[in-house]
Amino acid sequence: MSGRDLHSGSCLCGGVAFTVRGPLPPVVACHCTQCRRTSGHVWAATTVPDERFELITASTLCWYRSSEAVERGFCGHCGASLFWRPLGSGTIYVAGGALDGAMDLHVGEHWFTGDAGDYYCPEGPPPAQVIAPPSGLDCSCLCGAVRFGLPGPAGAITACHCTQCRKLSGHYSASFDAEEETVRWQSRSALAEYETPGGGRRGFCFRCGSSLWFRSARGEFSVEAGSVVGPTGGRLAEHIFVADKGDYYVIDDGLPQSDGA
Ligand SMILES: [Zn+2]
Ligand SMILES: [Zn+2]
Ligand SMILES: [Zn+2]
Repeated sequence: MSGRDLHSGSCLCGGVAFTVRGPLPPVVACHCTQCRRTSGHVWAATTVPDERFELITASTLCWYRSSEAVERGFCGHCGASLFWRPLGSGTIYVAGGALDGAMDLHVGEHWFTGDAGDYYCPEGPPPAQVIAPPSGLDCSCLCGAVRFGLPGPAGAITACHCTQCRKLSGHYSASFDAEEETVRWQSRSALAEYETPGGGRRGFCFRCGSSLWFRSARGEFSVEAGSVVGPTGGRLAEHIFVADKGDYYVIDDGLPQSDGA
């Protein structure tokens, strides 16, 4: 349990801001396909009863009904994956990456580990070798309104713990470099772009809030590993911006870490 009583949180653009009052239970990291699709990697959250959760600003808050009994809250302006709520439960799951400052929390459980991506393991080092790397990758948001193809395999996948990636993904990001010219768009009717403070652009689905890709101010393009449907043929290779990581998780996979890029 987190001892500190009042915690604040927000999306990256500030269109959604909220407070939660503790004590907060340990964080759950969820590896199910839906959480991987929306966050772009793994979604992680603590649980708060409704009466201890307060929205301060909700001007850009959108809800997507991802299954009959569950809805997912995201920012319609910056695309941050913020909330998960079983309808009628009286509780809301709040993304660890959205919470500001030290949390005095830890990841207590991993859910749906059997649905984890092929490029990492929920705990410990990533799989030693890639089995049957795919020659093409199909990427999609959760609702299917944004779909595109890429040459495969994904290759080296980088985990980024910078504040922007943590706010947008809800935990931290994992992505791989791609040539934007090789993207074959199948549907982009619900594609939105958000310009980040550094001048980059984040692509996300404005219907379901899924994180899809990032284009840096210099034009480098990367795709969120969680958007890949099926095997990526990639392997997590390093962690960057570790100095900005959240205090509620540990990096235990033995991969190289750097405080910057
Ligand atoms: Zn926002
Ligand atoms: Zn979508
Ligand atoms: Zn980042």
